[in-house]
Amino acid sequence: MKFEDSFKHKGLRKKLVEEIKNKGIEDERVLDAIGKVPRHLFMDSSFLEFAYIDKAFPIGSGQTISQPFTVAFQTQLLEINKGDKVLEVGTGSGYQSCVLMEMGAKVYTIERQKPLYLKAKTLLSDLGYKARQISYGDGYKGLPAWAPFDRIIVTAGAVEIPESLIQQLKPGGILVIPLGRDTQVMKRIRKTAGDIHIEEEHGSFRFVPMLGDKANDR
Ligand code: SAH
Repeated sequence: MKFEDSFKHKGLRKKLVEEIKNKGIEDERVLDAIGKVPRHLFMDSSFLEFAYIDKAFPIGSGQTISQPFTVAFQTQLLEINKGDKVLEVGTGSGYQSCVLMEMGAKVYTIERQKPLYLKAKTLLSDLGYKARQISYGDGYKGLPAWAPFDRIIVTAGAVEIPESLIQQLKPGGILVIPLGRDTQVMKRIRKTAGDIHIEEEHGSFRFVPMLGDKANDR
């Protein structure tokens, strides 16, 4: 069966949720969402046995599906409320998008690499996940046509905070972005009603680098 989610998968997922809980994820809504999304369906079949290990894995085009702990950590930092309009930069496999949708977010996501964009678009629709928008393009520029957003999450390492993303954030909004070249510091930026940006740092991570506008797939 192509989209089988067996008792075995569900059991492994339950264990994964326990594992990331032990690693410090406290938000029950985030843990519930991780418990619901069948991560094995976002990975190539040859990697199925790794789907519920807390590790990043290759998804093609030189990219990876983020480690479950990292997905949970970024999602927790976002403080998602039901109905929030969320922009994700770096659709990748589409897994993070689905975690956000399970929490009741309206998801707009953008991917820079066409094969991944096409694959995620098909997969999400096959699995019945309804993103508001899945776009192909340079997420460094955000998605101005659908702005402003309550929340923005960047899932590739950026060397600077894109001004366009700050602009596309609502007052009271939150941006979560890994910042740095080789390793990244997880930054959370809150935009206040008075347009003041409050920055916090939340530990060190390793992401694939954010691609510029002239990557060679165009
Ligand atoms: N959120 C993904 C993880 C993806 S890894 C998941 O859940 O699977 C980071 C992704 O960001 C890669 O797919 C990469 O191609 C994409 N990316 C890199 N630079 C980008 C850019 N400028 N705009 C949009 N996507 C970008």
